Amino acid sequence: MAVPLSARRVLSALRGEGLSVVEVGDWTTHNRNHKGPWGPVHGVMIHHTVTRGTAHTVRICRDGYAGLPGPLCHGVIAKDGTVHLVGHGRANHAGLGDDEVLRAVIAERRLPVDDEATTDGNRHFYGFECENLGDGEDPWPKVQLDAIAKASAAICRAHGWTHRSVIGHREWQPGKVDPRGFGMASMRERIADLLR
Ligand SMILES: [Zn+2]
Repeated sequence: MAVPLSARRVLSALRGEGLSVVEVGDWTTHNRNHKGPWGPVHGVMIHHTVTRGTAHTVRICRDGYAGLPGPLCHGVIAKDGTVHLVGHGRANHAGLGDDEVLRAVIAERRLPVDDEATTDGNRHFYGFECENLGDGEDPWPKVQLDAIAKASAAICRAHGWTHRSVIGHREWQPGKVDPRGFGMASMRERIADLLR
């Protein structure tokens, strides 16, 4: 059970982890809080965008598109490792997922297989969208993977969570494949190293 971090604390946590951060427009008040609850927060979810080009990617993640209004995450992690903050509060990123996965995240236990889509994840997860085509061929630059680990560690550190509080979208919602191109188990190990 954790109260969401304030926008100021999110920003200071990310910068404190050594990340380069860009604040996009009115990100501190850009959210979907009028559509449902935000919090308590339990973890961090990692995605890939299926887009190319950082400016285009950040714009879509901020504004959304027909049928899915933005923000589509809290932070966009670009190919160059910069984190672009686009929203604060409830965001359209996690969708419905598995309540047993949520219970495992809360307990910081090993994850069960996600086989249900019954539980509102937008309420409970911070979301980072990572710029990648998601085709299994578009490379993940080292600086971007480093930034994903650091951004996740920053949120975990601010809340006193372990690496087990970080999951991929594909571990939450049946049918999702993101992030594709690196393993979440190895990413969690990197996050654990940062938190040690
Ligand atoms: Zn996703």
